[in-house]
Amino acid sequence: MPDLVVRGARLVTPAGIMRADLAVEDGHISAIGPELAGAAEEIDADGLTMLPGLIDVHLHFNEPGREDWEGAATGSRALAAGGGVAYFDMPLNSTPCTVGRAEFELKRRALERSSVTDFGLWGGIVPGNRDALAELAECGAVGFKAFMADSGLAEFPRADDLTLSEGMREAAKVNLPVAVHAENNEITQALARRAAQEGRRGVRDFLNSRPVLAEVEAIERAALLAREAGTKLHIVHVSSGSGVAAALEARVRGVDISIETCAHYLFFTDDDVERLGAAAKCAPPLRGRCEQDSLWDAVRGGNVDVVASDHSPAPPEMKRGGDFFRVWGGIAGAQSTLAVLLEAGFHARGLDLGRVADLIAAIPARRFGLRGKGALEVGNDADFVLVDLDAGYTLDESMLFQRHHMTPYLGARFRGLNRSTVLRGQTIFADGKIVTTGGGRMLRPAAA
Ligand SMILES: [Zn+2]
Repeated sequence: MPDLVVRGARLVTPAGIMRADLAVEDGHISAIGPELAGAAEEIDADGLTMLPGLIDVHLHFNEPGREDWEGAATGSRALAAGGGVAYFDMPLNSTPCTVGRAEFELKRRALERSSVTDFGLWGGIVPGNRDALAELAECGAVGFKAFMADSGLAEFPRADDLTLSEGMREAAKVNLPVAVHAENNEITQALARRAAQEGRRGVRDFLNSRPVLAEVEAIERAALLAREAGTKLHIVHVSSGSGVAAALEARVRGVDISIETCAHYLFFTDDDVERLGAAAKCAPPLRGRCEQDSLWDAVRGGNVDVVASDHSPAPPEMKRGGDFFRVWGGIAGAQSTLAVLLEAGFHARGLDLGRVADLIAAIPARRFGLRGKGALEVGNDADFVLVDLDAGYTLDESMLFQRHHMTPYLGARFRGLNRSTVLRGQTIFADGKIVTTGGGRMLRPAAA
């Protein structure tokens, strides 16, 4: 007898969208079909839509060492409330940063204690740690992250072109992807210096110091280095349609490249940064309407692979002050990725639900070698989210699970309310509450 049967939901499966029952046994999907036999526990999901649980491949919970910025206990609860079942934590802004075996093991143990969802860990590429990359692969890293622009954190220096190129060669040997923050450092630094000299420190001055050109140039350079090294390349947080176009051109030239954008680039524009201030500061920055429109075209057309949150909070006192260059950047939105895709995608732009499932789960699982995750298929982990697509709500502070409540999504209207999130057959979020105390496991990429 199955442990759980979910009855009558509209299931978004790789084979199409169908109304059916779904049975769970030992944490796995054991059957999908009409009128399945009874189980110990049943969920009546009539009128609800079931999507595979969201896998957020890019966020910063800053644990260990900076739990006062977020921490996996609060961060993973926010993720679960937003339909998330797993995340990949970036090598910064934890202390220490994840650039070697000892640092990796420290973080793994910390997150096993505090996380309510599954997780994977990115390793970092920084000048001088080339020999650590094979060790990080042995530990189970999902890939390696490098910054082509200043990371803002002294402990995680930018990868100059040689460091990046040599890091990519090491990554190719262990067949793991390299993820890059793609912005040209010379352009962004020089424009920031010029603005400083001229005493221009406002929101627009900051936005203008990080032009789309800086992103496009860095994507092209990273793609060239990846092709030479024979490594898989993942471009994180592509902010513009022009950036996607540059990555697609590289793909045509034979680069094995995946393209990630973030929910905030799809939901907000540069005008919103002026309205919302520090809560909406990020790099690359939010773009104008034209770039956002072409980014949406790419999402709808299947040319963007992954939508992540890049959840990157900091204490509110670091996000105050009149000098917008000095205000700490990073958008806190781990809870809102699926909400954005349903409201601004499905409802407002006709984005189909199969595509949503690809962006939040199927492609992340496939690209990063998570076997048995990412799709509503018999044999896979029973990871799913049940959504009432037509229920509307306004995001208010009482709904947030993250440590600090500063997020640009506060007050936004969404259609598509998450009723429950299920991880390996266990309900972890239901009716607005977290109903688990832990149990997140580390995910390792399957040997490729
Ligand atoms: Zn990030």
